[in-house]
Amino acid sequence: MPVRLSLERHRGSGLAFRRSLLLCVLASCTVVGWLTSHVSNLGATHGPYLTHSSPASALHKTSACMPRRMRVGVAPRSLMPRTMRGSPLSPRRMGRLGRVGAVKLDLPNESEASTEIVFTGGGQYRVLDQGDVDAVGQAAPTDFYEMLGVDISANKTNLKKAYRGILKYCHPDKAGAEATEFCTLVNVAYDILTNDVQRKVYDVDLEQYRETQGDSFDGQAKSAWGTNCNTTETRAVFVDELSCIGCRMCNNLAGDTFGMEDLWGRARVKTQWGNNEEEISDAIDSCPVDCIYWVQRKQLPLLEYIMGLCNRITVASMMNGRAAPDSPFSRAEYFLKQRKEAKWGPADGSMLHNERLSNAIAKAWLQLPAEIRQDLWPQYAELQGDTN
Ligand code: SF4
Repeated sequence: MPVRLSLERHRGSGLAFRRSLLLCVLASCTVVGWLTSHVSNLGATHGPYLTHSSPASALHKTSACMPRRMRVGVAPRSLMPRTMRGSPLSPRRMGRLGRVGAVKLDLPNESEASTEIVFTGGGQYRVLDQGDVDAVGQAAPTDFYEMLGVDISANKTNLKKAYRGILKYCHPDKAGAEATEFCTLVNVAYDILTNDVQRKVYDVDLEQYRETQGDSFDGQAKSAWGTNCNTTETRAVFVDELSCIGCRMCNNLAGDTFGMEDLWGRARVKTQWGNNEEEISDAIDSCPVDCIYWVQRKQLPLLEYIMGLCNRITVASMMNGRAAPDSPFSRAEYFLKQRKEAKWGPADGSMLHNERLSNAIAKAWLQLPAEIRQDLWPQYAELQGDTN
């Protein structure tokens, strides 16, 4: 008698089917994981898809058990017939086939935030360390002038007024022990800025720092927020532009969400939820290098800011085998770590403005009680919680 296989039978057999599916996935992961570790060093000579997997896969905390799709020796999906595109293990496609149970199908919302990668209906979900983003990943003053709330041309009278006004509220006797670090920095700032010689040195150093580092983080997302979502939506879409090869697939499928930036020819989200979820998921699914991620809305401003700081190479260089030199996720996590661990004392070079001092000022300010920040620096406090 011929053997008949049907999806209905798989669904009905429940546990047995899920077990066998899980075993298949684990076996595939082991093989792909082995391949990843053995071929990653060959990227420079084996074409663009190999080299793409190396920097990006290094970011994945669960890459050993659920590696990214590899396309070693496989034609880009844009060259395949539409019906052949996409991973055979895509949860979206599995869901459509009724093979539910082995993988999570729903896109996670904020309440399900996790540092684990969750495979979703089209694309991967990435989170930075949530606690750190809340604690130190916010807009904050980052130099002596911003800290005192004065213009760079402020005279000594204005400096004195600002200094006294801050200490009146921020003295540890009033604001608590968490204000100690900030008050120490305020005293250092006042001493330097009221000394003509030291101020000149500091100003030159600050100007050079700003020229090389660009604007400091203002806590604002660069992409607009669209209307094709409900008001409580906490997910956003983010393109790792360093891995993007500029194929325009996402732009063609969800053009109100994804645009192409002019300078490097990479995709970038211009409007979050410019399209509906179905269209966005299709666009993500079509990306041949899997460089579009779902992220938390509140983490988006930092990721988009960091994206602007990342070093880039041209698409042509990538296609010739050069690996992307940077990663927005690892740089954003580095940014958070630097701020979290920032410590500064006069011995570090009181007149020099550097990354260490900048982070120390931001960290000390973010430690102040929220009501004091709100009263004395409303321009920064208003930027907190700009996103849900
Ligand atoms: S993000 Fe992906 S689909 Fe969009 S242009 Fe870049 S490589 Fe192509």
